[in-house]
Amino acid sequence: MVVLPELRKDPITDRWVIIATDRAQRPSDFAREPVEFTPGRICPFCPGMETKTPPEVLAIRDGGLGAHEVIIETSVHTENLASMPEKQVERVVWAFRERVLDLKKDKRLRYILLFKNYGAAAGATMEHPHSQLIALPVVPKRVQEEMDGAIKYFGFKERCVFCDLIRQEMKDQTRVVSETDRFVVIEPWASRFPFETWILPRRHQSHFESIDQKDLEGLAFVLRSTLRKLERVLEKPAYNFVIHTAPVQDAASDYFHWHIELMPKLTKLAGFEWGTGFYTNPTPPEESARFLRDAGLS
Ligand SMILES: [Zn+2]
Ligand SMILES: [Zn+2]
Ligand SMILES: [Zn+2]
Repeated sequence: MVVLPELRKDPITDRWVIIATDRAQRPSDFAREPVEFTPGRICPFCPGMETKTPPEVLAIRDGGLGAHEVIIETSVHTENLASMPEKQVERVVWAFRERVLDLKKDKRLRYILLFKNYGAAAGATMEHPHSQLIALPVVPKRVQEEMDGAIKYFGFKERCVFCDLIRQEMKDQTRVVSETDRFVVIEPWASRFPFETWILPRRHQSHFESIDQKDLEGLAFVLRSTLRKLERVLEKPAYNFVIHTAPVQDAASDYFHWHIELMPKLTKLAGFEWGTGFYTNPTPPEESARFLRDAGLS
């Protein structure tokens, strides 16, 4: 008998995902490329090497308008967001917010994307712990699709789709990894990748940069703890994360809800994905949530 995989549709973007429910892959089944340090390399991001990097914190030039910034997360080359003290992660998140607040004063910049590539398999070219910021004069397509989905949902229900999603996931519990008084961590229903993880603020907020001090502390805790769980369960995988937030020049909205999407690099996109736009995920999110809950870390 042929067991058909399960088709799931993301409620926000209408994107289809094929979840393999019959032969679910466990963490040990993935051919991982764990993050390892190459000793003896000269690093321009290490203290004392400031002359090797450009002095500017901001580079907006007419013509190819935009800005690309690198946020060095710590002076310690061998640390990462999971291993550094929580207070340091809080400083990193604070720096994210400060840079957005500063850059958004330039009214030509419509979108500010904060993201991180960790490990060569996730596209990182520098080993020293860092995140990146790219400011754009346009809203990226991926974000626009989410915005459009959220606007459509709001048009029907007069509620934020993300707030509804949080409520449903909290009730159901099967895809919840952890929850605090400020944040919820879930494996989304239509996860595109194994162990895809979303961090959402419980309180409705369209813009990341409007987080207050308590949110900063709460986010630092939950981001660090989620990365520690992933590290424990998947043996220090390469990963990417992005912060999805409303376009900086837009007023606060009732329909969009900022969040972080975190994707460990465990599989590669193949012809079927490129040809169809469908994603195939070999690990049901209910399974990955269970593994992360059982990681034995707060
Ligand atoms: Zn370094
Ligand atoms: Zn909301
Ligand atoms: Zn998103």
